Amino acid sequence: MALVTRPLRALLLSELVSGLVLTLRYMLRPKVTLNYPFEKGPLSPRFRGEHALRRYPNGEERCIACKLCEAICPAQAITIEAEPRADGSRRTTRYDIDMTKCIYCGFCEEACPVDAIVEGPNFEFAAETREELMYNKERLLDNGDRWESHLAARLSADAPYR
Ligand code: SF4
Ligand code: SF4
Repeated sequence: MALVTRPLRALLLSELVSGLVLTLRYMLRPKVTLNYPFEKGPLSPRFRGEHALRRYPNGEERCIACKLCEAICPAQAITIEAEPRADGSRRTTRYDIDMTKCIYCGFCEEACPVDAIVEGPNFEFAAETREELMYNKERLLDNGDRWESHLAARLSADAPYR
């Protein structure tokens, strides 16, 4: 039977036609691909991306240098140095994260009692050199300033679960 139908199918170009029909069918469907980086897919509000240090609305740093994030970090990626200010408050003089060690576990964020260190929505921070992934306090605070509106909204939405 197959010996009869195979030449007939070849003569009628049925495989070519069925392939074209399949192409036409997919042409009319919504595309499943994205034109990245101009188009981006949805991101979970709990996505753990690039780190940021947040400030209070008056510009004061949230971080109180308790070092809980440094202690809990399983990758030992965080290095903090601190000293008291003239007004007696305790603040960091150094807050470094070695992003080449970080495993994005989110433990630092969970441990922080004042929501200072957070993992933001930014995943586009690829670098060409290792040095660029050694984040210091200035860079982390800059990230916090850049993403604050998103971070504040996400943290307040997460509040019942925290
Ligand atoms: S996300 Fe995890 S590995 Fe990365 S700095 Fe925070 S605690 Fe350390
Ligand atoms: S970021 Fe949070 S957990 Fe880490 S030292 Fe500052 S206040 Fe403490």
